[in-house]
Amino acid sequence: MMRNNWTKEEIREIYDRPLLDLMYEAATVHRDNNNYSEVQVSSLISIKTGGCSEDCSYCPQAARYNTDVNVQALMKVDEVIDAAVKAKTAGASRLCMGAAWREVRDNRDFDRVLEMVKAVNEMEMEVCCTLGMLTYEQAEKLKEAGLYAYNHNVDTSEENYKSIITTRTYDDRLQTLHNVRKAKLTVCSGGIIGLGETVEDRIGMLHTLSTLPQHPESVPINALVPVKGTPLEDQPRVSVWDMVRMIATARIIMPKTVVRLSAGRLEMSMSEQALCFMAGANSIFAGDKLLTTPNPSFNEDMQMFDILGLRPRKAFKDKEQMHAETV
Ligand code: SF4
Repeated sequence: MMRNNWTKEEIREIYDRPLLDLMYEAATVHRDNNNYSEVQVSSLISIKTGGCSEDCSYCPQAARYNTDVNVQALMKVDEVIDAAVKAKTAGASRLCMGAAWREVRDNRDFDRVLEMVKAVNEMEMEVCCTLGMLTYEQAEKLKEAGLYAYNHNVDTSEENYKSIITTRTYDDRLQTLHNVRKAKLTVCSGGIIGLGETVEDRIGMLHTLSTLPQHPESVPINALVPVKGTPLEDQPRVSVWDMVRMIATARIIMPKTVVRLSAGRLEMSMSEQALCFMAGANSIFAGDKLLTTPNPSFNEDMQMFDILGLRPRKAFKDKEQMHAETV
């Protein structure tokens, strides 16, 4: 049953279960609600890199931090089409285009992004964008151009948000998600663990996502990859068990949502990734780059799928199984 009235206490009780019980329950929910042998493969390209005015303390693209990121202007439409052809040939069904912007502005750059969306959509790939804050009118324009999903992560709990980002508020974040939903785009929103947050913050983030009027169609769960030059450069890596707990809990409270194993996957062995799939993860980012973090190659991923008996999911399956009823 779909629920969007979870309490933090209920979510905490699930998160704290003995790990094998938690995984078993999550695997059962996953099998009851999804085709567990299918994994969505998304490819992520950075269409505009670095030089961002925001201060997200995990992000090497923020202009104020001294990192190794090379600032790159907005890509050309042809370059994006080339990248999309390569991603599709290698098995990706979704192309996510990320731009390091605080927000979308109504200018020629946005017009070019609309052209990119149109071109990739015509290739019968699901197109996702992550461009920062967005008005309803801009969301509608993206929808008209053929955008399928918009990514806008809540990152962490409302309580912890101010310690991670000061240049915008949690409410700004939620407003963009509202605008995206109103424009009838599918919603991709998740967060990061390993920011120095408490378990309560992790529960708070899952509570925000699972109590939205409609569950996000995609929830990426990222493990922080600390980057030199950012305020979080010295954060210890999170353990795979924490990732498994987050994924399993997300799977149980949002049964039909695509739960994406995102940043931090490169650091995981195949066995660790298998645990995440068992716990209900059913999407990965693959390709040359996960924004600014290296990612396992497509070939390695396809070998892993062969070994684990998984297969890449076709595009546009969300349309069939999402928008589920909520209580
Ligand atoms: S996460 Fe996005 S908004 Fe924040 S600094 Fe990085 S590019 Fe800018």
